[in-house]
Amino acid sequence: MMAFSLFFSNSMCSPRKAFADLLSDEEEIQELRTKNSKTYQLSNGSFKCVVSADSIHYMNSDGEYEDIDSSIIEETTQQQYRYRNTANSWNVFFSDYLVNQDAVKIQNADTSIAFSIQGGNNQYSVQKAEVLSECELDYYSEISKDDRAVVYQNVFDNVDVVYSARTGVVKEDIILKDGSSQNTFDFAINLDGVVAIQDQNGIAFLDSHNHEVFQFGKLYMIDANGKYSEDVTADLHCEDGRFFVRIIANESFLKDVNTVYPVVIDPTITITGASNTYDTCVDEQYPSSNYYTSVNLWTGGKTSNNTMRTYIKFDIPSSVSNCISSATLKLKKNAYAAPGIKAYRVTSSWTSSTVTWNNKPSFTTSGATSTCSVYSGDWYQINVKTMVEDWKSGTYSNYGFLLKEPSETNADQKTRWYSSDASSPNKPELVINYVGISCWYSDSNLIGRRTNSPTLWYSKLNSNPSFMFVTGMTHAESQWESALGISINSASSATSSSLKYYGGTKAEIDALGLFPSVPTNNLGLTQYSYSQWGTISYNGSTKTVMIMSSTTGYIVDRSDMGTNNYKKTCTHEFGHALGWIGHPSPSQPTWVMQQGILENTVLAENEKKHLLQAY
Ligand SMILES: [Zn+2]
Repeated sequence: MMAFSLFFSNSMCSPRKAFADLLSDEEEIQELRTKNSKTYQLSNGSFKCVVSADSIHYMNSDGEYEDIDSSIIEETTQQQYRYRNTANSWNVFFSDYLVNQDAVKIQNADTSIAFSIQGGNNQYSVQKAEVLSECELDYYSEISKDDRAVVYQNVFDNVDVVYSARTGVVKEDIILKDGSSQNTFDFAINLDGVVAIQDQNGIAFLDSHNHEVFQFGKLYMIDANGKYSEDVTADLHCEDGRFFVRIIANESFLKDVNTVYPVVIDPTITITGASNTYDTCVDEQYPSSNYYTSVNLWTGGKTSNNTMRTYIKFDIPSSVSNCISSATLKLKKNAYAAPGIKAYRVTSSWTSSTVTWNNKPSFTTSGATSTCSVYSGDWYQINVKTMVEDWKSGTYSNYGFLLKEPSETNADQKTRWYSSDASSPNKPELVINYVGISCWYSDSNLIGRRTNSPTLWYSKLNSNPSFMFVTGMTHAESQWESALGISINSASSATSSSLKYYGGTKAEIDALGLFPSVPTNNLGLTQYSYSQWGTISYNGSTKTVMIMSSTTGYIVDRSDMGTNNYKKTCTHEFGHALGWIGHPSPSQPTWVMQQGILENTVLAENEKKHLLQAY
């Protein structure tokens, strides 16, 4: 596309307002919060959206999103409880001993479930899981770093019970420290505002409208070497009007000589609808197992042997524009091999709580990303810009990423990552930088940017000492460099530069034959090419964002112009060249971009702010 911007003369003057809302480096725009994302405006005017595969906000009673904080704190109002989770739409409370009546209570609005263990001892009072840090064992060393967890030690001989408050679940780990531990556990349950129903999926707790409020899902157990079994049952029964749940772990798994202790039995209570954690891994060795509440994700291994792959999906907020400058998936490695994974586009839908190796969704190798690279420390990054752009534009549906080693040929090439169920700040993130519009001061619906650092070449066509063309260009360059925070480099020839300007009389410019004939009262002109990057809707109108390419312009040598007029004219034309399309609206006579002949050489704050949005 080709366009022209002309600069004519007239005159006016008025004082300018200060730019009150200059932004700090990175400021969160709270109105743009979604359940799983935060958006920041950067000092250059562009936006950064950080998306999680898990919920990071809950809605408070005023209908505003607040940060979820699952870390354990002291409970101060209910005397019977010692600890609670900090902030969420629901709460979990822990009393001193697991044998106490209603020892653990999960409260969701006006419903709750509370339970206590039957027949256990009260040797140790509840503690934050950090007390387990002395222990060498992998399970204990992991859980001791989790500030969302509490532990009841030695509830039975050689049995600890750990609870952790996650975004949308309370996880219970019954830890059997050796083969002498018992395999049957009874819990007494008190219900308030809900009834319990057992079906093939587990136990559901329904409110008076028959809506599920809590769910006690399928159980599994796992030994210290990762040996996995779903041979754990949970049975609901009623005695004298009270509910009990009996958990039985398969004895032959526990007594097996190949079982390595500790064994963790893993019941999870889901607070229905509180979160939609969208990551999990699938495991060829355990092809019917699902790991959606695991704090780990895995990749690597060998085909037909022990392959593991990770599925992860991010709901991208509608406020992210189509003009995406970068999209990066960030993942933190937890242990084992240095990864060489790529991200692939998943091509059908899946649910994190049910996906397994056997029913895993398909993916395409076409358009796979480059291999991940180290971002910082244990954090790895993958450039996923093209995939995110395709999802935003609707070219493909967003079914998430498949993360895997490109050639699954090495059984030892396995990497353990932190999942969205891990504690902060270890969770995976999708970071999208994009251009958005938060203000508009132009009479045109177009705005442009230069994606590469612009290079400038200019030529004064005569030796008239009062024609301050070079002074004007130098001034223009420094005005826009500081306004946009970019550097404009000088090019050594016209052909190697992206911006070319000629300065001369009307006759000298006409003689170049590069432009249409210069109008008699013209001061300057900028002629640019562009390609469309995307559109952004703002205040009910559509703004088109363009990527500016080759640009040629001129400044006219006129006997009625002084130095400041040339500075102003050059700054004006240079604005067009960099992407400021149109002229100020409403009319702002003191502005450089205005069609005035005022000797106002400095960019107004709104002029800077307008174009900065595209950079
Ligand atoms: Zn203009």
